[in-house]
Amino acid sequence: TVTQPIPLGLAAARRSRQGRVVWGDHVVTVGGDAPVRVQSMTNTDTADAVGTAIQVKELALAGSELVRITVNNDEAARAVPYIREQLDRMGIHVPLIGDFHYNGHKLLTDHPDCAQALSKYRINPGNVGRGDKRDRQFGQMIDVALAHNKPVRIGVNWGSLDQDLLAQLMDENAGRAQPWDARQVMYEALITSALDSAAQAQSLGMAPEQIMLSCKVSGVQDLIAVYQALAQRCDYPLHLGLTEAGMGTKGTVASAAALSVLLQQGIGDTIRVSLTPQPGEARTQEVVVASEILQSLGLRAFVPSVTACPGCGRTTSTVFQDLAKQIDDHLRSSMPVWRAKYPGVEHLKVAVMGCIVNGPGESKHADIGISLPGTGEAPAAPVFIDGEKALTLRGEGIAAEFQTIVENYIEK
Ligand code: SF4
Repeated sequence: TVTQPIPLGLAAARRSRQGRVVWGDHVVTVGGDAPVRVQSMTNTDTADAVGTAIQVKELALAGSELVRITVNNDEAARAVPYIREQLDRMGIHVPLIGDFHYNGHKLLTDHPDCAQALSKYRINPGNVGRGDKRDRQFGQMIDVALAHNKPVRIGVNWGSLDQDLLAQLMDENAGRAQPWDARQVMYEALITSALDSAAQAQSLGMAPEQIMLSCKVSGVQDLIAVYQALAQRCDYPLHLGLTEAGMGTKGTVASAAALSVLLQQGIGDTIRVSLTPQPGEARTQEVVVASEILQSLGLRAFVPSVTACPGCGRTTSTVFQDLAKQIDDHLRSSMPVWRAKYPGVEHLKVAVMGCIVNGPGESKHADIGISLPGTGEAPAAPVFIDGEKALTLRGEGIAAEFQTIVENYIEK
């Protein structure tokens, strides 16, 4: 006999410290009780200040709450304050994160305006330098962060892992009576690199609230294993992402699979979906996918959701598919206006179903739903509002009428 109900949804979130990424009056909290944040990255040459500002704007309008830009040379560093200025002029206050590799210590020191215009610095401990030079150059970046009161993300990536550390851990492993699997040594190297660098930053005077970590890998199981271990060993906010996830469906599915497992366990404070854009595909697609992952898990709501059945032999036409797409497009494109006008509209649930089998049931679970007539059914489409059958639509104008009903519902 079953005596306990099945638990509802999400496991308790890992409680990380809360950090803040700030630009002017615009504050994005990260970690603690803050919602999981969506992050993205530009792929323009940062030295092209106009092109980069335009792409940052697009990403921000698509829902990216933090945008990272690469800062790889003097021209890029010089462009950063102009990018910031243009964004502010357009009313886009999304915080910019500078992505530094190899020469970040030099760029941040030589370009104080760049250091100030950025809201956070990403430091890759795998390419800051080696030996004494490493400590000196890492310290230089932390000093700049402290001087400008900016947080840092210590972002380890297994494609650019600290080779000295890896060699040391490999040697230690060779001395074990039962050596670990090479991948387990790699996991340990990733986590050690992140935690040692964080400890070093703290020893230089950085508050733990100013430090965020990431350990990105490109394999789903590897990412899950590394972050589960990392989450247990520290309380810094964690940035999640499957690095080099790939193109199209593969990249989307792999990212969703990896991130969902971790988010479901309460691990992850910011996420990025690293998609390789297909020719003609908008850069903003990675923001859409990241937002959808969070919304599908019930962690956040960004746009009203449309439940639609796949259709089958019981549907006589593609009317319901067209209607589902039309409603979905309309809801998404209206959000920039509706978000401010109708607070909470993002939680709306609409169902567009193909026949009587699941149509009325799904429609009753939604705020507003329609069940179109399938094969052999009467040519009528019952509409359900707040779980009750409200009216029945007939004839050619069903799509337009239903759209009006949805709009009236939102307005009410
Ligand atoms: Fe097929 Fe009807 Fe189910 Fe849609 S609701 S998949 S049309 S049986």
